[in-house]
Amino acid sequence: MTDTNSMPAGGIMAIPGQIDPVPVPRTAVVDGVTPRADGRIDLMGLPRKRIAELFEQAGLDAKAAKLRAKQVFHWLYHRGVTRFEAMTDIAKTMRPWLEDRFVIGRPDIVEAQHSTDGTRKWLLRTADGHDFEMVFIPDADRGTLCVSSQVGCTLNCRFCHTGTMRLVRNLTVGEIVGQVMLARDALGEWPKAGGNMAGLDEDEDEGSYSADGRLLTNIVMMGMGEPLYNFDNVRDALKIVMDGDGLALSKRRITLSTSGVVPKMALCGEEIGVNLAVSLHAVTKDVRDEIVPINKKYGIEELLQACADYPGASNARRITFEYVMLKDKNDSDADARELVRLLRHYNLPAKVNLIPFNPWPGAPYECSTPERIRAFSNIVFEAGISAPVRTPRGRDIDAACGQLKTAAEKKSRAELERLYAEKEAELGSYRLGCPVTFLRTNRH
Ligand code: SF4
Repeated sequence: MTDTNSMPAGGIMAIPGQIDPVPVPRTAVVDGVTPRADGRIDLMGLPRKRIAELFEQAGLDAKAAKLRAKQVFHWLYHRGVTRFEAMTDIAKTMRPWLEDRFVIGRPDIVEAQHSTDGTRKWLLRTADGHDFEMVFIPDADRGTLCVSSQVGCTLNCRFCHTGTMRLVRNLTVGEIVGQVMLARDALGEWPKAGGNMAGLDEDEDEGSYSADGRLLTNIVMMGMGEPLYNFDNVRDALKIVMDGDGLALSKRRITLSTSGVVPKMALCGEEIGVNLAVSLHAVTKDVRDEIVPINKKYGIEELLQACADYPGASNARRITFEYVMLKDKNDSDADARELVRLLRHYNLPAKVNLIPFNPWPGAPYECSTPERIRAFSNIVFEAGISAPVRTPRGRDIDAACGQLKTAAEKKSRAELERLYAEKEAELGSYRLGCPVTFLRTNRH
């Protein structure tokens, strides 16, 4: 791992992402269970089968353990209860027995922010004291939760603020699922006991909810970290999220965003089956090597071939290509035409998200001009490929992504605000949004 904060100005950035597999500090997780000081076991993040095993180990016979695990799984993930005493179909005498041996955890909330446009942002803390972030972005027809998979990141994408933080560790299954649980808690979106999910018809198929009446409708694995470098935990967490008796979100409403970990992409399609987004950001080797350094290991051609082979990709389920607009770096007409050529060459069912760069103090790039972004978008669009320019959200929320995370960076808040004001004035009608939207705009 490299501490890029100590990198000499103008120096060459080290590329930990070049090392594969990436060395990741381990948590003391044993068979999905993180030891607690009080000796009780946190069930958050565990599947039915593991819960049943633990109940059996605690003294229930196999049949009872299986039944109780099924009930507890439902209460845990589908109803969102955090106390066993609320599990009304479990015998009253059984509930204290469970309470003595098990807990239902959530990540701690260090800070919660709420924008006037509805965007919400949380700084969360793991039980061992590491901070990470989560953002909820409501739109007219959907509510998207941006979920983190790691604390920090190994990959050092040069446009990304998280890339300047060292990787601390992978998040556990419980910490990943816990983000979704916490968001549902905050949105007040759990069904009442004996009732049904707000806005959900009784006969609606679980796992295929529509947006109607639901606040949290979509999940993007696009927060801190590279999800495919924490594949097993991300997969196991999303399986609980997709389980009809768990959080019951359709795989069509979940998108995993990768910087291009090619060897894991097919596995992601096969074992998780969610939508794919790719941090492309450049169409030539030199530029992508610079801004998404994992490109030195898995080049553009290899990456696009893996996209073409992605299980389940079709015109109905297009692959999203994220493209951050960096002034004089990747934003020329020639770049746009090359992007079109590549997408056509690999016959990719694609949409392109153009992301105005959100600078932070010390960022090595500037945002492209509004005119350049428009021209780039037009070229891609005229080739028949959707290429919307994203509008950042939550601009009034206090502090930026990453600014929440480190006290040292909090000190540069005033400078960040000044840069933001300058850039917004320069871009005129192209609102940059608060730098808080690094999470949404400057990441993969
Ligand atoms: S864009 Fe994603 S993979 Fe790249 S440094 Fe940022 S968090 Fe890591």
